[in-house]
Amino acid sequence: MTKRDLKSLTIDELTEVILSLGEKKFRARQLYDWMHVKLARSLDDMTNLPKGLRSRLAEEFKMISLEVVDVQVSEIDGTRKFLFGLDDGNVIESVWMKYKDWASVCISSQVGCKMGCRFCASTLDGCVRSLTPGEMLDEVYKIQSEMGIRVSNIVVMGSGEPLDNYDNLVKFIRMITDENGLNISGRHITVSTCGLVPQMYRLADEGFEITLALSLHAPTDEKRRKLMPIANKYSLSEVIPACKYYFEKTGRRITFEYALTAGENDSDTEAEELIALISGLNAHVNLIPVNPIKERSFVRSDAERIQRFKSKLEKNRINVTIRREMGKDIDGACGQLRRKHMEEHVSC
Ligand code: SF4
Repeated sequence: MTKRDLKSLTIDELTEVILSLGEKKFRARQLYDWMHVKLARSLDDMTNLPKGLRSRLAEEFKMISLEVVDVQVSEIDGTRKFLFGLDDGNVIESVWMKYKDWASVCISSQVGCKMGCRFCASTLDGCVRSLTPGEMLDEVYKIQSEMGIRVSNIVVMGSGEPLDNYDNLVKFIRMITDENGLNISGRHITVSTCGLVPQMYRLADEGFEITLALSLHAPTDEKRRKLMPIANKYSLSEVIPACKYYFEKTGRRITFEYALTAGENDSDTEAEELIALISGLNAHVNLIPVNPIKERSFVRSDAERIQRFKSKLEKNRINVTIRREMGKDIDGACGQLRRKHMEEHVSC
């Protein structure tokens, strides 16, 4: 029998479980508090729950607890990249970044990814499976416990296309923002998508305050198709209206992610095409100096080109930032640490 994960259950679902075991309702709240506030690692830690109840829960349920397999620490800025082991033997990456007075975590939403973006290491072996809400929560919980500092910001921008794991993502957001859990503000959560249009509309209607980041990376369909296979399915004439809808429904400004790659998408013409595409939208462009991966031949744009691209956008009153590079000295691009681990530990 496959055991259900307790950590993936909302307080209402947990209450049903507890009542079905003939226990009092308040035990559900205690259990929830142990998992989502005290960040307990196992049922054994929950000392104010009767032993008999813990044993009965253990017969039918498991409690996800990620195993720290490896940690890389940047000597430049203290960024830490965690490699976590899942209970089926898969591994995922999450990254902890410390800013002046707050800490942010970038989490994975799937093991691998099937979207095939050409500049990305996470997709090289396809998608193995989606993560459960409990596994995504535990990426945050484990890092907060290990670091001893409250996580205040979350970006769902690691391996995986979050909107390809829609239901689990939405449940994760509801639980991580729950005032009876870690209570992280929705305004401090960013979800990145390569542009799954129907799910973008659904997300806009969920009532969240989260930021949506669209991986744009090229200003025309033709160029985007060369970098991102998803552009064959959804054209910019569908993606941009979905962004507009998201802003209208949530009041949250869209972030356009644009990874600058030398000779691919960083010319003056492309800057002008980008301006034409997003002018008038309440948007913010995040320019990303692309991280090279050894399996692909992309080269990052040089600093001068990046500045020139940025100035062009700014002259047209588009809000732009260049993504601050964190953990430059550790396996930078998302998915690289996992790949390295798989190459060293899995023989085919
Ligand atoms: S960039 Fe994101 S959506 Fe594209 S392949 Fe990588 S993980 Fe998947």
